[in-house]
Amino acid sequence: MVTLEVMPMQDTISISLASIEEGKELKDRYDVIILGSGPAGLTAAIYCSRAKLDTLVISGTLPGGQLMNTHMVENFPGFPHGIFGPELMMNMRMQAERFGTTILDDVATSVELLNEPFIINTVDKRFEASAIIIATGASPRKLGLKSEEIFAGKGVSYCATCDGPFFKGEDIVVVGGGDSAIEEALFLTKFANSVYVVHRRDKLRASKIMQERAFSNPKISFVWNSVVDDIIGDKKVHGVIIKDVINGERRELRCGGVFIAIGHEPNTQIFKGQIDMDERGYIKVREYTKTNIEGVFAAGDVHDPIYRQAVTAAGFGCMAALDVERYLTEKKYKH
Ligand code: NAP
Repeated sequence: MVTLEVMPMQDTISISLASIEEGKELKDRYDVIILGSGPAGLTAAIYCSRAKLDTLVISGTLPGGQLMNTHMVENFPGFPHGIFGPELMMNMRMQAERFGTTILDDVATSVELLNEPFIINTVDKRFEASAIIIATGASPRKLGLKSEEIFAGKGVSYCATCDGPFFKGEDIVVVGGGDSAIEEALFLTKFANSVYVVHRRDKLRASKIMQERAFSNPKISFVWNSVVDDIIGDKKVHGVIIKDVINGERRELRCGGVFIAIGHEPNTQIFKGQIDMDERGYIKVREYTKTNIEGVFAAGDVHDPIYRQAVTAAGFGCMAALDVERYLTEKKYKH
């Protein structure tokens, strides 16, 4: 059974996704195992299970993926008034389960892809699969400061939707200049006294519509050509040290919270040495979703540093599932 927990919190929604559908037994072997449960993984699951492939999804550390930390999704086709990220993921999950997908809320700790059947290990389970779809997505990039680690959860956050309500009446710093940073800044204005967007250049990377919204919001101001050089505080954050990248000057900016939104890095650690990747760790694909290993496919942010949209990830998930289906059918005929 999947539990849906909707908690009214301003206009945010919180949904917890429960583990395996009631009464469903885990097997040792599946036709296809999908690693990751964001739009790519769950779309792949819908297609695979509709094609009557025995399908297991191992959801990963954040069941539902990055959209679980997103507020309103306004650009996913079919929702003219937008849809909350967690609600969208809940729908995808229910849709996959409706067609027979088994979803295990666990984390794959290692993979053995040299020979078929491929092997996926979690801490206490071992599964075999004839095909694999890697849809493990990406995680927030860090600034790399020691103080960032020290104050993580004590004023440093990577998710305004999750933590914004804790910063009521505070002055907040948001780091970054892309859509994520602007989205976070706009959302935080619901709670914060003021929001400073600290960006390393003098122009935003964010889309025009997001820029317009930010520029016209009286609570948001911009600190251009600047980086956060340090985060200061005692038990919690009291401020940041801002460094001007043009003249090198450093100054303190008082704030109660720091939200870091400077992009993402692919979650590919467990595939290192087995799957070909580029220098940033993104999985290399050929013919759309194929990796260097026959029978192992990739979909979504894990191989796509360019588009990185929920709808493109879903599209890649669909493509990977169709490729798996063809691969398994051809293999069956060969034997
Ligand atoms: P992004 O577009 O890559 O932007 C990252 C931002 O962080 C850039 O402004 C970059 O600066 C800055 N940055 C990177 N590393 C930094 C560092 N070490 N120190 C300081 N600043 C750093 O990432 P994103 O904003 O997460 O967006 C990713 C994708 O998701 C995009 O395609 C975006 O359109 C999409 N998205 C869409 C929505 C929406 O439509 N509602 C919301 C969120 C994200 P530079 O500009 O100088 O490179």
